[in-house]
Amino acid sequence: MKPDQRTRAVLTLIAAGALGVSLLTPSARAGAETVGPERAGARTVRPECPRGLSCDWVPAAYRQTGDPADKETYGNYDTADRPRANTVKFIVLHDTEVDYDTTLKMFQDPANETSAHYVVRSADGHVTQMVKNKDVAWQAGNWYVNTHSIGIEQEGVAAEGAKWYTDAMYRSTARLVRHLAAIHDIPLDRQHVLGHDGVPPTGATGTQNMHWDPGPYWDWNRFMALLGRPTVPSAPPSSRLVTVSADFAKNEQAFRDCEKGVDLPVQGSSAVPLRTEPSEDAPLFSDPGLHPDGAPGTDCAADWGSKISATQQAVVADRAPGWTAIWWYGQKAWLRTPAGTRVTTPTAGHVVRPGAGKSEVPVYGVAYPEMAEYPGDFTKPTAGTPLGYTIKAGQSYPGGGVAPTGYFYAPTIDSSQPYDHTYFRGAEKYVTVQIGHRTGFVKASDVDVVRVRS
Ligand SMILES: [Zn+2]
Repeated sequence: MKPDQRTRAVLTLIAAGALGVSLLTPSARAGAETVGPERAGARTVRPECPRGLSCDWVPAAYRQTGDPADKETYGNYDTADRPRANTVKFIVLHDTEVDYDTTLKMFQDPANETSAHYVVRSADGHVTQMVKNKDVAWQAGNWYVNTHSIGIEQEGVAAEGAKWYTDAMYRSTARLVRHLAAIHDIPLDRQHVLGHDGVPPTGATGTQNMHWDPGPYWDWNRFMALLGRPTVPSAPPSSRLVTVSADFAKNEQAFRDCEKGVDLPVQGSSAVPLRTEPSEDAPLFSDPGLHPDGAPGTDCAADWGSKISATQQAVVADRAPGWTAIWWYGQKAWLRTPAGTRVTTPTAGHVVRPGAGKSEVPVYGVAYPEMAEYPGDFTKPTAGTPLGYTIKAGQSYPGGGVAPTGYFYAPTIDSSQPYDHTYFRGAEKYVTVQIGHRTGFVKASDVDVVRVRS
């Protein structure tokens, strides 16, 4: 299997179904209690967790699954040398869609070809590490993001998020993320602390296959506050840059679980719907990557193109009474901002816009080296191709954050190919851009990064 196929992320409803795992049924215990800590000689492998956090180590499988001569078919992760080679600059939060024990069991079976660095248990916030942070877990559905991120699974079901995402879980995950961010110098903002729903596809046609967990019922305001990054006004009310700050409990929304074809109960959410005009009757915003036929956006929980999440930022494009338009995938998208509520908070920060003389700038889902930068005798060079989104002159988007340029080549389990397990660094600098719900990357040479205060 080629490395770019190893981009699947864990445990969507689809994955769980394909694996024949019935949701949330009791399974044979394959957790820490049964397996016990891995022993390397006489030494117990210590999980990479902050002191005082309830945390253990249960190794994910690292084994071949096919013909022994086929070194390219294996699971469930790749060995690497992070952060010495690939730096770690992103955290990706997921939910499991199956229970904690089943998740551990799945990551211990190499046939599943999926893993995450950590799994957090709903009931008590206990953390189990399964892949070392130096290694690359197969979790984000985007090889570039996989190789530069740490993935954390929350036990839960996205459509039932509120009942799974407990106080103990929010606290444990936040402690873990703060710890990892301090070690790896990861910015604690929403272009580096991503939900799986914020991970871009690697190419123009990939959006429909990208995952949407941890879903609209993960309380991002609360989580970012636990990271020490609460949303507070830091610019005049007229600021062009805003942070969405809809109160989770008061922001009651009616979404649908379109995989199951059922209406979800009206409930508090992080997600704020976006419309094409400043009217409740206007169609929901249509992400062209998700709806290439131009059909309107939907109220499906999975249709993130028609929603912005609390703690995500956006640039104001227009205002109307009770409504605010933001730049979103190259167009205006409107969200309801009634007077006297605080759906958005004026914010100081950085935005990116096309550099002087450029009318349109491509956005990428990866930050790989240019083809010419690979060694001449390397037969598998990979460069980024633009997503279907561009930044047009006159528009700007939150961004400008660090995005390392590099491609990690790791096709086999035993490094038996030429250049196997090499990290190719690129010279072209990339920065992050919040082009829409999913983050993206632009060449620094294509844009100006501007500080916005008012
Ligand atoms: Zn996920």
